[in-house]
Amino acid sequence: MSCVEPKANLTNADGQSDQDHNPFDSMQPRVPLKTPVDRKNGRHVKANDILPKGVYLPNNNYMAPHMKSPEYVQLSTAAAITLGVMGGRMHRCGCTRCLNLLLTYPEGCRANCAYCGLARHREADRDYADRNFIRVDWPAVPMAEIVDIVASDPKESPFHRMCISMITHPQSDADTFTVLRQWTDRIDPEAIPVSILSNPTTMTRDDVQKTRDLGADIFTVALDAATPAVFDRTRGKGVQSPHKWSKYWEILQDAKDIFGRQKFGAHIIVGMGETEYEVLQLVQELVDLGGHSHMFCFFPEQGSLMDHLPATPRDQWRRVQLARYLIDYRGVRVDQMRFDDQGRVSGYGIPDAELAGVIDEGIAFRTSGCPGKFQDDISACDRPYGDSPPSDIASYPFQPVKKDLKLIRRQLDIPIRQE
Ligand code: SF4
Repeated sequence: MSCVEPKANLTNADGQSDQDHNPFDSMQPRVPLKTPVDRKNGRHVKANDILPKGVYLPNNNYMAPHMKSPEYVQLSTAAAITLGVMGGRMHRCGCTRCLNLLLTYPEGCRANCAYCGLARHREADRDYADRNFIRVDWPAVPMAEIVDIVASDPKESPFHRMCISMITHPQSDADTFTVLRQWTDRIDPEAIPVSILSNPTTMTRDDVQKTRDLGADIFTVALDAATPAVFDRTRGKGVQSPHKWSKYWEILQDAKDIFGRQKFGAHIIVGMGETEYEVLQLVQELVDLGGHSHMFCFFPEQGSLMDHLPATPRDQWRRVQLARYLIDYRGVRVDQMRFDDQGRVSGYGIPDAELAGVIDEGIAFRTSGCPGKFQDDISACDRPYGDSPPSDIASYPFQPVKKDLKLIRRQLDIPIRQE
């Protein structure tokens, strides 16, 4: 059964757009259909009274309505493998450096974001515990078990950071505090700092302050959309979702005041209909405020309201990735860059030789996010294959090597340097 009406696909055989960027007019999500009453609010799961037992892997299918936060959290497949609660290997990665946690409830997230695998309309298709976020599964694990494992030796832990991702749910503020307290009671936040990926829709300034008081290090806002029009269409009224651009910015400003410089930021998805100029202006605005941008490449998640749309073309993505890195870490300003009449980057504002050096370092093309213990511009949060398949990597969860850089230069249409 599906609440999603299939539409024509705009991609070629590789799921990529035939165009060299995703313009606004071609990125319209479909309208969510009505959820059947017997599937609404996790009713199907809550009709049972089965107790959860240990780690729940997606598609275990035992519908345990009591498997919910704060006792349980979901964690990314990469984090579950690194923690040792799940078997498996990751393409070209030994481990992940970020323990990404996600609050969980049988009725799931109550928002309906068009690009997200956890969106409310999907309750017609899959129980919440079995839904993937974007591209990867998130097994559910007792929070006490996670804390026990990491607290046994935080200094030697592979994790450089822990992150609590909130979802839109009436309990998510209170449960975020409980999960955070449970962590900082046993694990020194100096050894493994904590980030909060917030859901502003349910939050107040006092809530932001409380996360700081409980020991959070960095506070980020999942703005996701780069402009008010894209936001409204993908996360607001356009898809019967409760989010408002103004509320996200209110909480972002609170985070700036409370957490201070370099300790707040916003997530942005590239390729949902904004121009390259628009998204880079937003990156500049965040830097001018004293924060950072963490970027994702749009991926048409199967079952989402945007699964009929093309993934961000790699040339658009690489241009924005490179320009964002220059603004965030190399002091280049967006007004030094050049853009064509469709808002595409046509000049990066620094001499060619300098640009070539930045490309060859490869860091600009790694996953962006909160820093770990290596250096400020290398994210702990490497999210392996969270925005692309391993066969066509968007964000590199490892240091790109020579063959990767050759491909990146081709995608950027910048010739390979003669050695
Ligand atoms: S609020 Fe977050 S988890 Fe919920 S649908 Fe939107 S993007 Fe997905």
